[in-house]
Amino acid sequence: MANLPYSVTIENGVKYFSSKLLDEVDFLLNASSSRQGGMSKGTFSALNLSKAVGDADEDVVQNWRLFCGVLGINTQQIFEVNQVHGNNVLVIDAQLLAKKQNGQLKQAISADAIVTDQPGVALTILTADCLPIIIVDPQKKAIAMVHAGWRGTCQGVIQQTLNRLAECYGGTPDNWLIGMGPCIGNCCYEVGADVVNIFRESHADWYTYCYYKGDKWSFDLIGANMSQLLKAGVRPQNICELNMCTACQPEDFFSYRKTLGATGRMMSLAMLRE
Ligand SMILES: [Zn+2]
Repeated sequence: MANLPYSVTIENGVKYFSSKLLDEVDFLLNASSSRQGGMSKGTFSALNLSKAVGDADEDVVQNWRLFCGVLGINTQQIFEVNQVHGNNVLVIDAQLLAKKQNGQLKQAISADAIVTDQPGVALTILTADCLPIIIVDPQKKAIAMVHAGWRGTCQGVIQQTLNRLAECYGGTPDNWLIGMGPCIGNCCYEVGADVVNIFRESHADWYTYCYYKGDKWSFDLIGANMSQLLKAGVRPQNICELNMCTACQPEDFFSYRKTLGATGRMMSLAMLRE
């Protein structure tokens, strides 16, 4: 266990992972849930944290309580976005946060990345194969949470987020810390030639993360995002990936691809402690 890049916590039956690199930041809470420990049944068993996949609402509400409970936060602190596989970055400032707290935010805003310097607000991304990425600026005390599937990756969602963090809070990526959560590994992520062609036309380094194996293409989601992070000036030693594949570990993770779509979602979360 000592050499793993993540720590595992099991409390009240709820199992979650956190990045050891990010655990060292004392003002940060970081966690990625597993599927273990919740109330959901069948294909959503057990800790499905998405209300938008057809699971029973009361089970998901209970699961939110359970997951937040073990993290020591309340469900009101969760800030959700409507993930659309794009590259839009939402900035949560005091004004937007107040709007949410006053109940004036009726619907989740569409975005695939969220940044904030506000303590006590838990940035969350839901995934089942896509890559959740936490970015921490330890000096400016600002954080970001990114949802990267192949589409968002192709549109440079991580690059957009780094730019936004720098613009908003004035830091530079050379001392930022990156935690990549569980996602589908290149062992299991087959893509069509159409996807590879889209990358070939838009990214000069496409061949470093699109592999032709046997007679099929596979895509290295972590590698593609890693490449964008390094280009932006993030240091390799400041990037931590959990090195777990959501499709290879069905006991721990929901996998959209493995189940052909009908499945739950894990939640990755980052919060500046109050
Ligand atoms: Zn795999």
